[in-house]
Amino acid sequence: MGSNSKIEWTDHTFNPWRGCQRVSPGCVHCYAAAQSKRNPSLLGVWGPEAVEGKRVLAAESMWAQPLKWNEQAEKAGVRQKVFCASFADVFESWFGPIVNGAGDAWIKPYSQREWGHEHWDTADLESMKRDPQGWQLVTMSDVLNRLFKLTQATPWLDWLLVTKRPENILPMWNLSEPMIDLAGIEPGEVPRYRKKPLSNVWLGTSVENQEMAYKRIPQLLRCRELSPVLFLSCEPLLGPVDLTLIPPINRNAPCSTNVLSGVTYWPEGDTDTGASIDWVICGGESGKEKSIRPMHPNWARTLRDQCLAADVPFFYKQHGEWIGMPDYDCFTHGMNLDSHPHRMMFSNGKFADEIPREERYSYSQRIEELPVSVMRVGKKAAGRLLDGFEHNGMPEVRE
Ligand code: SF4
Repeated sequence: MGSNSKIEWTDHTFNPWRGCQRVSPGCVHCYAAAQSKRNPSLLGVWGPEAVEGKRVLAAESMWAQPLKWNEQAEKAGVRQKVFCASFADVFESWFGPIVNGAGDAWIKPYSQREWGHEHWDTADLESMKRDPQGWQLVTMSDVLNRLFKLTQATPWLDWLLVTKRPENILPMWNLSEPMIDLAGIEPGEVPRYRKKPLSNVWLGTSVENQEMAYKRIPQLLRCRELSPVLFLSCEPLLGPVDLTLIPPINRNAPCSTNVLSGVTYWPEGDTDTGASIDWVICGGESGKEKSIRPMHPNWARTLRDQCLAADVPFFYKQHGEWIGMPDYDCFTHGMNLDSHPHRMMFSNGKFADEIPREERYSYSQRIEELPVSVMRVGKKAAGRLLDGFEHNGMPEVRE
């Protein structure tokens, strides 16, 4: 069965809408934001509504694709993975209108009984705002409802939802329609909400450095009961990340958790075991920009080793544009060091050329390590061998 995605860890990509807003250092070279500038009417406009950001709903033909993939997967008897929203963040809080390629707003009838997208239409945004005439704007919640329904109509697909806003997962999940118990609800009655798990929806968050690990992972772990697989996308990895001592959301509690094993350590040596992460993806940054950032090879190695110690599958996607020595063998590749940009990098992310020459030796002594050479050879040439091995770990789905 064919795969329509170039991303190594998925079979398909699906974008329910396009458009987003940068939130953290991992977004600096967002390829989707760069591409959208070429065709903003279809690919969305990055930024908030106040600065003319746009979220553009996918065409009907796109919404039909997952149904076809599901049929193919069922016929072959092999489950397929769908990376949802490579041009958006599924859990972005967006309160503006959702538009089509012509810039018209998607609208729905005012009646609360009309839940389905079959009733949606489009209208000129300005006239709609002035004179709604029984219609209201389709919201991001409506689009999420449609997306969650689609996930439930495609049981042969595993949907991978990665977000940089995991704090929004629970509130947005609980308010979406497939999670609402509508049975026996009379008009005007308030529906009941439930934290319903979806067995083919995997939830992930991006972790590019330690700060984002502290901020995002505890939020993701709150969603343990919603999904069979919780995962981390450590790409682009921009700094060392220790997953073995993550403080709780309430930073005042005197404990920290190894989020790979789920063990929480308390003072006096007490421990308890709770929710944990099922899968870690790691990769360096890629892109054409001059400012693409190298990943120190030790950052990837320590993540790999932490996963190994906790028996958590580790997927090494790529070195990225830059590669550290000795993963890249110049002799085998017939490449002259002088023909490519290269820098000496410490594992704390500092470059030797940023430190005055006369201080480099004492700096090295102070942080007790020598810098390694990193070279920009391009994503393809850099490949995805870490210390000579491919790492293709995939999670086992919890029942
Ligand atoms: S959250 Fe994702 S899609 Fe949105 S700006 Fe950041 S990298 Fe781009």
